[in-house]
Amino acid sequence: MNRIAVVGAGFSGAVIAHELAADGHEVEVFESRPHVAGNCHTARDEESGILLHQYGPHIFHTSNPRVWDYVRRFDEFMPFTNRVKAVVRGRVYSMPVNLHTINQFFGLALGPAEARAFLASKADLSIAEPRTFEEQALRFMGAELYEAFFKGYTQKQWGMSPSELPASILRRLPLRFNYDDNYYASTWQGMPRHGYTHIVERLLDAPGIRVHLGARFERAMAGDFARVFYSGPIDAWFGNAEGSLGYRTLDFAAERHAGDFQGNAVINYCDPDVPWTRIAEHKHFAPWESHEATVIFRESSRYCESGDTPYYPIRLAKEKGQLARYIALAREEKNVSFVGRLGTYRYLDMHVTIAEALDWADRWRADGVTELPAFNVDPLG
Ligand code: UDP
Repeated sequence: MNRIAVVGAGFSGAVIAHELAADGHEVEVFESRPHVAGNCHTARDEESGILLHQYGPHIFHTSNPRVWDYVRRFDEFMPFTNRVKAVVRGRVYSMPVNLHTINQFFGLALGPAEARAFLASKADLSIAEPRTFEEQALRFMGAELYEAFFKGYTQKQWGMSPSELPASILRRLPLRFNYDDNYYASTWQGMPRHGYTHIVERLLDAPGIRVHLGARFERAMAGDFARVFYSGPIDAWFGNAEGSLGYRTLDFAAERHAGDFQGNAVINYCDPDVPWTRIAEHKHFAPWESHEATVIFRESSRYCESGDTPYYPIRLAKEKGQLARYIALAREEKNVSFVGRLGTYRYLDMHVTIAEALDWADRWRADGVTELPAFNVDPLG
């Protein structure tokens, strides 16, 4: 039986705490915010009763059977398919780019093979191995779709030109030559009936776990524990000794309306002159509920300054050396494991953090945890 500290009560920390407590360890969870579940936090709006995704839309999807079985032990997952729409110059299009989008945008009625040939005629085939976001877009969809749907949105979301960003960000989205407008290509997708915070609370409500809310964990405390699982920002752990790593933060402007505001959970605004990137209408994340009123969040992005909540690691090529130095420092820590989106400075989805957290627990069981995970230090990878 060991005394273990978990820093951060998001999915990474909560799953590790749950698993190690189930093995009989004594786990202390330190969370600096007044609530658990990190940026997945959900809470009911007092006025309307609508379940709000306080830190922006989180839609659960995975192709990993272990993760899908795992999360369903902690809440019922309701059917939900994310079908995003995109507004470009006053018109609404289907997203992610699919046969409908292509036909809508170009005013055509192409079949799948015709659309493939059509886009191939627009693609820049001279780009053999796209490394940047822009090259990836020009190589696979051509300039017109890229400029309409991706260039402005990405500039707003990341605060820089897509020519400076890695191709991996665009590869998150499928490009389809059929009418499938499911935003994700995962095997399973759904929404927890009672929200993500409910799941995390249930994970942490186990014998052997003590949760400290509003509690900072200082590096000097690490010696009191056999192991520390740290899911905060990796640069902050080292007091930003190598300089701050770049993150984007989000702002949400909430509005209340009567009835139905936009008829869908998420609508993206791709034009550069519209200040927000997307509008989320939260009651549509829970289509099994019914509410008279509605709450929307207009979402916009900016550079994360100290004191802001970090959301997206930027991972620029020029940060590669800095990140490598942090990883070298992390490897020197004797009893600290860096986990999750902020701990490993990677753009991870919920299902990946859960899979990695389960993996950490397995490794602890196997050998008392000796190795750090394989960090991906190639920002363009
Ligand atoms: N993106 C875009 N236009 C869109 C949707 C996405 O340009 O309408 C780009 C943008 O750069 C974004 C990336 O694709 O950051 C990944 O999109 P995703 O929906 O995965 O972002 P998330 O929901 O994680 O913010």
